[in-house]
Amino acid sequence: MTDFAAVLLDRDGDGRTEARFGRLVEADLMDGNVTLAVRASAVNFKDGLAVTGRLPVVRRWPMVPGVDVAATVTGSDDPRWQPGDEVILTGWGIGETHLGGWSERMRVSGDWLVRRPATLSPVEAMALGTAGLTVAEGLDRLHRLGLTPADGPVVVTGAAGGVGSLAVMLLAQEGWSVTAVTGRPEETERLQRLGASEVIGREPFAGAVKPLARERWAAALDTVGSTMLAHVLSMLKPGGVAIACGNAAGMDLPASVASFILRGVSLVGVDSVRIPTARREEIWNRLADSVDRHRLAAMTRVIGLPDAIDAARRIVDGGIAGRTLVAVRDF
Ligand code: NDP
Repeated sequence: MTDFAAVLLDRDGDGRTEARFGRLVEADLMDGNVTLAVRASAVNFKDGLAVTGRLPVVRRWPMVPGVDVAATVTGSDDPRWQPGDEVILTGWGIGETHLGGWSERMRVSGDWLVRRPATLSPVEAMALGTAGLTVAEGLDRLHRLGLTPADGPVVVTGAAGGVGSLAVMLLAQEGWSVTAVTGRPEETERLQRLGASEVIGREPFAGAVKPLARERWAAALDTVGSTMLAHVLSMLKPGGVAIACGNAAGMDLPASVASFILRGVSLVGVDSVRIPTARREEIWNRLADSVDRHRLAAMTRVIGLPDAIDAARRIVDGGIAGRTLVAVRDF
């Protein structure tokens, strides 16, 4: 039986997570009706939580992290998929309850797969990954609530991170005036090149949260949660919408209801893990048609599978800028 490379997570006797680069065999793969040769994956915040054990996102041991996958179908009992098909898989519990994408091979449910648009390379698909899907879903929510760039500027928190950088880029592409919030002033120029009109520090979002503060933005895309999101809510204009998609600073939300009842502000959550397949297809095709490939490439760096463990440890401490793609085999 041939073996293949993967990053493996296990627990030591004290319940601490151990990560190592190792090998698996086909028999280690989980149930599913489609087998994949993984070409590329990515490093996401959730992979960082899995590798460090900082939050209990892994619910099956041993685990392979990696919530993003671009792959080629190698075998299928699902009539919708044939060997040679190029696919994207994100979410659905991979890297949490089902062995993830930091592995040369996977066995998964055909229900989870999306055909990779022909105009999107595996590198571009993974540069976008879960982060791109999340931002695109967040933008759709803004559209459905009737918000447009004419309503005023939008603020993006955690802007130098993967989701944040893509949010800055995709919102600017749509014509929004984007305020990027970052704790890393050295990222200012990069964020401006992605399309930010204004780059500010975290200072306005520190300290006690007022029920209502000066109205600044029509919309927000928040990747940080906790007091950052609470401050953002207090600063939205009447009728403003905050898209909550992250917890980089914590799961709590010490906010007041004042902005909801006195300014008609809406708080909308995005969960990219369970977006239905038909919607995913629509989003991926739209991203393939619209994404600025030069800007996307400029925010992405490529690492090998063994280096993913170190990158995952750094991402949870805000130590990674933009998107990090994991090259698993030739793409
Ligand atoms: P990154 O680490 O790349 O980005 C997070 C950014 O948040 C950091 O770069 C940093 O930005 C900022 N940040 C980190 N810690 C703090 C802090 N204590 N206070 C204020 N800002 C902080 O992660 P990702 O972009 O991959 O993910 C961002 C978040 O979105 C995560 O919480 C992740 O779990 C979530 N997510 C949710 C999804 C969903 O479906 N809802 C899908 C994908 C991600 P800066 O240095 O610019 O200040």
